[in-house]
Amino acid sequence: MSFRGRFAPSPTGRMHLGNARSALLGWLQARAAGGQFLLRVEDLDRARCRPQYVDDLMRDMEWLGLTWDETPLFQSARDELYREAQAQLERAGLVYPCFCTRAEIARAASAPHGLSDEGPRYPGTCARLSSSEISERARTRAPAYRFRAQPGEVHFVDGLQGSYSQDVETVVGDFVVRRNDGVASYQLAVVVDDAATAITHVLRGDDLLSSTPRQLQLYASLQLRPPEFFHVPLVLGEDGKRLAKREGAFALAELRERDLPPERVLGLLAAWSGLGDGSPVTLEELVRRFRSESLPRVPVIAQEQTLVTALGLS
Ligand code: GLU
Repeated sequence: MSFRGRFAPSPTGRMHLGNARSALLGWLQARAAGGQFLLRVEDLDRARCRPQYVDDLMRDMEWLGLTWDETPLFQSARDELYREAQAQLERAGLVYPCFCTRAEIARAASAPHGLSDEGPRYPGTCARLSSSEISERARTRAPAYRFRAQPGEVHFVDGLQGSYSQDVETVVGDFVVRRNDGVASYQLAVVVDDAATAITHVLRGDDLLSSTPRQLQLYASLQLRPPEFFHVPLVLGEDGKRLAKREGAFALAELRERDLPPERVLGLLAAWSGLGDGSPVTLEELVRRFRSESLPRVPVIAQEQTLVTALGLS
């Protein structure tokens, strides 16, 4: 199967240099393999996504030369596919409506801290409701829909992090595939889309490493073939925390608007990726230098001073 990679940003803010590094590494991995690279806009969370950020991120990528193949997909326009996948899971008895509020889950949870993106482990309150209980509750509250987490360890080998396992049922519990506001969850949408676009290699930040077992359970239940995963350690600020999109100093659009030569930004991103010493560099040169084996495996700290020097800012 030929190589197909992708970049799947959520347009909830201006892209920062950490996002740009993920885009660059995914792009390099695809181009060095002679493969294709797709762009998918993950704009399901309408309250947080803005068209302006979509515009910005496309311009940022073009400015750096990170070209994509095919027409970019927008998740907000693909709900029909997510509904089909959900219906398939429902037919297999793997999805059920859940009427719990956040507060109820927090109160009922035995372990208060699950994985932060899902909140506490779901205690299974609605897992066995009868159909009359379901219709009764549906009168006063729109349900979310949860996937019945399958028991046992999910194990996979990440291209960068090595062996990883997680018992989804114990750690996360039954997880949401459709929120109670009617929007498909990230976990479902990402699996449906990566499979529908025949993605073979997923390179993304390692903040999503712990989501992968959930996604693998969905792949298995939908009888889809999962891609290979490469979870890249994030770029951290000097405080050791991950860069946030609001941190203006790291916003790519701002550097673009200052008319900085893109080769300088590429030089900095290359230095953060073990592909250079910080001096300006072209994409062609980076494709030549790129080796999948030397993808970064440890987090990088974005020192304000390195940034200022590499970018020639004053
Ligand atoms: N949209 C997600 C994000 O911006 C990335 C999803 C993925 O690469 O799987 O964090």
